[in-house]
Amino acid sequence: MPHLSIVDKLAILADAAKYDASCASSGAQRRNSSGTRGIGSTEGMGICHSYAPDGRCISLLKVLLTNYCQYDCLYCVNRVSSNVRRARFGARELAKLTLDFYKRNYIEGLFLSSGIIRNPDYTMQEMVEVARILREEHEFQGYIHLKTIPDAAPELLEAAGRYADRLSINVELPSRASLGELAPEKDASRIRKAMAAVRLKLDEKKERSRHRNPRAMQATGQSTQMIIGADASDDRKILTTSASLYAGYKLRRVYYSAFSPTPHPSSKLPPQAPPLRREHRLYQADWLLRFYGFELDEIIAGGDDGMLDLDIDPKLAWALKHRERFPIDVNRAARAELLRVPGLGTRGANAIVKARRLGALRLDDIARLTTSVAKVRPFIVARGWHPTRTIESAGLRAQLARPPAQRELFA
Ligand code: SF4
Repeated sequence: MPHLSIVDKLAILADAAKYDASCASSGAQRRNSSGTRGIGSTEGMGICHSYAPDGRCISLLKVLLTNYCQYDCLYCVNRVSSNVRRARFGARELAKLTLDFYKRNYIEGLFLSSGIIRNPDYTMQEMVEVARILREEHEFQGYIHLKTIPDAAPELLEAAGRYADRLSINVELPSRASLGELAPEKDASRIRKAMAAVRLKLDEKKERSRHRNPRAMQATGQSTQMIIGADASDDRKILTTSASLYAGYKLRRVYYSAFSPTPHPSSKLPPQAPPLRREHRLYQADWLLRFYGFELDEIIAGGDDGMLDLDIDPKLAWALKHRERFPIDVNRAARAELLRVPGLGTRGANAIVKARRLGALRLDDIARLTTSVAKVRPFIVARGWHPTRTIESAGLRAQLARPPAQRELFA
């Protein structure tokens, strides 16, 4: 490789990492270096919940160890057959860069992924070494997320878990068949086996105190990423795969990343990226499955032919096809029923349940307890409010699905 300055490497390797969506740090263990010789903290505001418009997480140093890769995953810009500039950090070089950025307050932690150099074990060893230097030599207490390599030896995955707050293993594509076709070196069974091994370690961790066993897994969870729109899988297939991953491996998150065409694409790939709104609708559907008590079939039935409705959110789509279930009386309905009301989130539903203990709620009260009473109003009954005609109105969908418009700057 030609000699590159650290700035050149950073430009190449940070850019190459921007396709990885799975970098939220929620659920990190609370640590603080005050009173120790170490540095950093995962506490307080500002740790990695911000995303730049291009999807990049802006408060972690999100970077690849190298964008050189021996594999040929057709959807990936870093694949061996791709003609892009290559760069590689040394483990010490990257650890130093992380610390420098941290001290300048640019970042709260590190998100590290990598192409496969030499072999999976060698690559994983190098990534673990970055985390080890930070944790052991510099007592770095900031956040570390390692994207692990499923084919690496179990001892290396275990070592990664000792230093990282979060581990993730990319499932890559919604179906085994697509993975076989588009990422020939990857193996769906090995990916799931690695997830199962991490889950086992996370379960074991619960049994032991980290203070009694400092060599035990420190990570608090695992997540994964699925690329959407690179194969023909519909939204039903994608959400079915997610549901099985959540159930089987106790994932904290499945991240959906819209396929982005690369230069000189394979003819096996679609020529265009899917609409970004598809990614957004999948996230909304994912939340309905996990936190709102919806069944997969109910969500999918809101759209057509196994695809979510792109124009309206999946809860509204379901409600418009089940108007007979509405209006719901906010003064009597169970919390689970309130959660089915479009525009009402878990916070709003909880606030209503609490507030109605003090007396029957009117529409004005609902307006104070929710973020958008205009969206909620057609679907509820409150004291002095009954929307009989609106819920049956043929124009209700158009009324609620108005395209978002930017407000005037000086209005
Ligand atoms: S393993 Fe596949 S997805 Fe990962 S960097 Fe290499 S080519 Fe890209």
